[in-house]
Amino acid sequence: MKIVRVQKDGEVFYAVRQGDLLKRLSEAPFERCAFTGEEIPVSAAKLLVPCEPTKIVAVGLNFAKHAAELQGGHPAPAAPILFLKPLSALIAHGDAIEYPAVSQRVDFEAELAVVIGKQCKNITPLDAKDCIFGYTALNDVTARDIQKIDGQWTRAKSFDTFCPVGPCIDTEYSPKGRRVQSVLNGRVMQDGAFDDMLFDIPALVSFISVCMTLFPGDIIATGTPEGIGPMRRGDTIEIRIEGLCSLINHVK
Ligand code: MG
Repeated sequence: MKIVRVQKDGEVFYAVRQGDLLKRLSEAPFERCAFTGEEIPVSAAKLLVPCEPTKIVAVGLNFAKHAAELQGGHPAPAAPILFLKPLSALIAHGDAIEYPAVSQRVDFEAELAVVIGKQCKNITPLDAKDCIFGYTALNDVTARDIQKIDGQWTRAKSFDTFCPVGPCIDTEYSPKGRRVQSVLNGRVMQDGAFDDMLFDIPALVSFISVCMTLFPGDIIATGTPEGIGPMRRGDTIEIRIEGLCSLINHVK
């Protein structure tokens, strides 16, 4: 199933997308899909961020070639590097990424996002699959100059609009053997294979759950492959994940 969250006539609701049609749900779909019977065309609704997380957990340096390309070069980490992005950074497919006045270098980072489906804590990698609701696309927008100045990542990763997510959550998706690309103004900039992740998705979900309780709707950004680069005002950036709906935003 492809799950979306939309706004229409002042109402916000979840729906299942089938082609150009939305089948409205009466509640969040994590436990079950309760259809209201109402069907509307996709074009009649505004797509929102497809879930309502309590947190966005992001993984740094999860591809060896990306770790190496950063200034100074980083060795592959021995354990996942975690950081958080604030909920105030979330924007939907089609919304604008706002270029902060205090940065001169704002980068795209194409990433696969895991959406958690049930509350979990201290789970093993083997049990991680049961906690995953589905997958969507995410752009871990980063003020690269501020990341270098600050020495840690909070401000660089946290500007308003720096976390585009969506447009659909695919509940049947498997990243195995698939690729992720960023496409800037129609040109492919990153092209990585999920099989090259240093820590795979069950390992990441387990590792994070040892630290913090994960709740339905929580988002895990699983890291970006090599090829990161800057965006400019007026650019269009697409996060294109093989087998998922593309996430497209523009920069203003
Ligand atoms: Mg990232």
